Amino acid sequence: MDHLNHDVLIIGGGAAGLRAAIAAAELNPRLDIAIVSKVYPMRSHTVSAEGGMAAVLRTDYDNFDLHAYDTIKGSDFLADQDAVEFFVKEAPKESIRLEHWGCPFSRDPDGRISVRAFGGMSVKRTLFATDKIGFHLLHTLFQTSLRFENIRRYDEWFATSILVDNGRVDGVTAIDIRSGELVSFLAKAVVIATGGCGRIYQFTTNGWIKTGDGMAMAYRAGVPLKDMEMVQYHPTLLPNTGILITEAARGEGGHLLNKDGERFLKKYVPNKMELGPRDILSRAEMTEIKEGRGLEGPYGSYVNLDLTHLGEETIEAKLPFVKELSERYLGIDPVHEMIPVRPGQHYMMGGVHTDMHGFTGLPGLYAAGEMACVSMNGANRLGSNSLTECLVFGAEAGIGAAQYATKQGAQSFGNPVQGLALEEEKRIYDRVLKPETGERISTIRTEMQKVMEDHVGIYRDESTLKQACKLIGDLKQRMKNAVVEDKDRVYNTDLVSALELDFMLDIAETIAYAALARRESRGAHSRTDYPKRDDVQFLKHLTVYETETVPRIDSMPVTITRWKPEARVY
Ligand SMILES: Cc1cc2nc3c(=O)[nH]c(=O)nc-3n(C[C@H](O)[C@H](O)[C@H](O)COP(=O)(O)OP(=O)(O)OC[C@H]3O[C@@H](n4cnc5c(N)ncnc54)[C@H](O)[C@@H]3O)c2cc1C
Repeated sequence: MDHLNHDVLIIGGGAAGLRAAIAAAELNPRLDIAIVSKVYPMRSHTVSAEGGMAAVLRTDYDNFDLHAYDTIKGSDFLADQDAVEFFVKEAPKESIRLEHWGCPFSRDPDGRISVRAFGGMSVKRTLFATDKIGFHLLHTLFQTSLRFENIRRYDEWFATSILVDNGRVDGVTAIDIRSGELVSFLAKAVVIATGGCGRIYQFTTNGWIKTGDGMAMAYRAGVPLKDMEMVQYHPTLLPNTGILITEAARGEGGHLLNKDGERFLKKYVPNKMELGPRDILSRAEMTEIKEGRGLEGPYGSYVNLDLTHLGEETIEAKLPFVKELSERYLGIDPVHEMIPVRPGQHYMMGGVHTDMHGFTGLPGLYAAGEMACVSMNGANRLGSNSLTECLVFGAEAGIGAAQYATKQGAQSFGNPVQGLALEEEKRIYDRVLKPETGERISTIRTEMQKVMEDHVGIYRDESTLKQACKLIGDLKQRMKNAVVEDKDRVYNTDLVSALELDFMLDIAETIAYAALARRESRGAHSRTDYPKRDDVQFLKHLTVYETETVPRIDSMPVTITRWKPEARVY
């Protein structure tokens, strides 16, 4: 096994990982920084973000307290308010930094960066670049990262485990996908920024690569996961593919209609209508469909998203990607026709527990982006807060890791770290790759996705959640006897899929157990058997720890600074 050595190692080349790398490189130019990413960074899921990123730039009508309040109310009061206050203050600074690095934001005629309305936000504060913010933001970060000679990249390398010795992080193991060889990296500090895990679900907006790897690696290293029961469904996915139609379509004035052509949201969120938060809108669509007011198509039940009244000019100028996606994937021109949509998994509010500076509690280990849980999203994230979160807390994690690494002495690759890496080599090549017969990976993956969709989806209850816990447990057992059919080492995507599924099963289990433990309804977590929010018992974060058997649930207090929990009505 080859060994490589860096001061700071970042897993993930999306928004959070790249921002962390730049922050670390700026803090200490003498540090040797590496980014390991299973795909070329520009292919990270960040690239697909459409709508925009939130920050208070229009101080004539907006302010930090309003952004904080919207975020906290959106979170159904589960967000840590100190983290939210920090976030809203840093958000404009990060946005302007991005602008100076060259991000081509859309602009008003007077030259200012344009802002649009977004769900759950009281005022227009979402900066955008037509409807392709993710592409432009990621490109800006990527090209900025190229300026630093002390950032080295390992593209198409798949991290498999975090090496922990003597209560601190010593590095990671990763497969060079091109050669198929496992390599151990020594690192004084590690930042995980591996994104979400939407592929655990059957119907999701998430790219194939979003498999919760970093969450599982941290969990296996003893770090708790937090708010895992909080899974966001987005109300407007194309029913055939799960491709997202951005909330910006409603921000620009689009309407949601049931089969009678009625703007049904007046019954659910009368004051906000299409700009209500995602959890409430997704449930409203499900209720319309369940009560017979949805439409039926070749891909199941749906409702309509109507943009026809916006006019061709607005659609071309502000929503060109919505038009392109509708035409390409459904043969529909939204200038003249309605777009069929339905809810689907979109985002994870939960993830690896960190403090406000990305520190996980395990010396040397930092986390940021969608895979981390600061927690500023609580039980429901507001659209367009996530990209800004990746910047704000990505930078914090990079700074934290760089400061920590700067203080550490030189490392050596001796035992027990060497032993841990060799053990990982045995797991991958002897236990996962070697077996000649067994169950197919895709069978287990499909079943897991169905269990999560059917039992741990928008609506949940005690009996289906208990079944989910059992079924996922059974799938984990079956995974031990699965077969990787491709035995070659070079570009073995079958092996990568097996390792990803192994990670996903762990994460699916934590979601099911946390959802079972939270006997109330709050934000995205909707229990039909406990329909009310219960602040007496559940105004707290649930944390999940790995054990030899089933996950162990514990809790952490929610930090309330200035906004007392109140009824969440829109
Ligand atoms: C379709 C879509 C539209 C969205 N639109 C918006 C929007 O308009 N506004 C908004 O705020 N948010 C939006 N979001 C959410 C937001 O884009 C994401 O939460 C955010 O981009 C996540 O960034 P990240 O850096 O945490 O992870 P990602 O961008 O997912 O990057 C993860 C990185 O980790 C690497 N990685 C993962 N596992 C491994 C491993 N085992 N080994 C090595 N590398 C690994 C990957 O290669 C990748 O580089 C959208 C999400 C989707 C899916």
